[in-house]
Amino acid sequence: MLNFKKVVKRYGKITALHSTNLHIVAEKTTVLIGPSGCGKSTLLRLIAGLETPDEGEIRFAGTPLAPSNINELRHRMGYVIQEGGLFPHFTAERNVTLMARQLNWPGERINHRLDELTDLVHLPERLLHHYPNELSGGQRQRISLMRALMLDPDLLLLDEPLGALDPLIRYELQQELKEIFDRLDKTVVMVTHDIAEAAFFGHSLVLMRDGKVVQHGPFQELAHQPAESFVAHFVEAQRKQLMNLSQALS
Ligand code: ADP
Repeated sequence: MLNFKKVVKRYGKITALHSTNLHIVAEKTTVLIGPSGCGKSTLLRLIAGLETPDEGEIRFAGTPLAPSNINELRHRMGYVIQEGGLFPHFTAERNVTLMARQLNWPGERINHRLDELTDLVHLPERLLHHYPNELSGGQRQRISLMRALMLDPDLLLLDEPLGALDPLIRYELQQELKEIFDRLDKTVVMVTHDIAEAAFFGHSLVLMRDGKVVQHGPFQELAHQPAESFVAHFVEAQRKQLMNLSQALS
């Protein structure tokens, strides 16, 4: 679905992504994980065409991303960011349907899709008439997900979609998101820094450090066959946190 060939991204003197080859398979969930500043969001923004590589090429379903086709290809991608990124002066419904309206979808088609999505994300219908600041963080993320799915994209990109939520809501939405991903069979690329979340969602994990991919594989592989000591440290540090929690509970 996505192929990176020797992709490099620099911001001035900082190389956010060193020469990277990466293959992301279709209809599975791939999670980008690693410490803050390692290049996860940069990689996601490159896929979304919000950044352009300084070197190399990214192919989306075989087509190289280029300024000439990015707008068209973007209609085949849905993008959700941590704070939702909703327009504050539009109602939830307006936010969700904005792109479809711009593309001149007939009203009936828009309403039908809106109904489907409201059901999918378990959103009470009355909330569609609210403005983002009248909604809770969890509700806003449901709306953001609806907006990302409105055009029925092949690819769903999520940048720490649950990062700003309190733990209880985060747990609930994790379960629901997983069900939605399993049901939709979409290609999902998600950024998180939480390895438990990565293991929960990801068919495969891309562990990054300092702008490089250190290991790409299922969680079990990272845990049991770490490519280098950093992988083992990263997994172990987060496992110890969980052990602290279970010790405190016992
Ligand atoms: P992560 O998502 O893993 O936290 P990012 O991809 O956001 O990391 O950032 C990778 C590196 O690139 C960091 O050193 C960050 O400071 C830098 N960076 C990201 N975006 C910009 C930008 N727009 N301008 C300058 N530096 C940036």
